[in-house]
Amino acid sequence: MAEACARRRNYKIDGDNYNCVLCNLNLEETTYHLFYECPFSSRCWNFVAKMKCQHQFFMEIFIISAWEIWKQRNAQTFRGTQGSFRYWKICFVDTVKIHLHRFSPFLLVTMYPSG
Ligand SMILES: [Zn+2]
Repeated sequence: MAEACARRRNYKIDGDNYNCVLCNLNLEETTYHLFYECPFSSRCWNFVAKMKCQHQFFMEIFIISAWEIWKQRNAQTFRGTQGSFRYWKICFVDTVKIHLHRFSPFLLVTMYPSG
């Protein structure tokens, strides 16, 4: 994503490597790859798909999931921290819990599906 943008603008990235940092498929990091095609992201989306949540909360769940994937990618790109599904899940669940406070107390979200 950022690498693809930099490449289009003729910026050079160290090592001339524009590949996704969250997987070892050696594929260019495009928006589509990073958020949908990447095995790392797929694992995150599979976790999200197992959640049972109210329809009105769906968009927030989607945005939080994508945001946390983006943060994992940035941590690895800029700090060298290995992207981790476990850490994504912790951050995702914590952020969802914070956002749940904005909604009705009757809103039920099952937070811990298997996987
Ligand atoms: Zn990837």
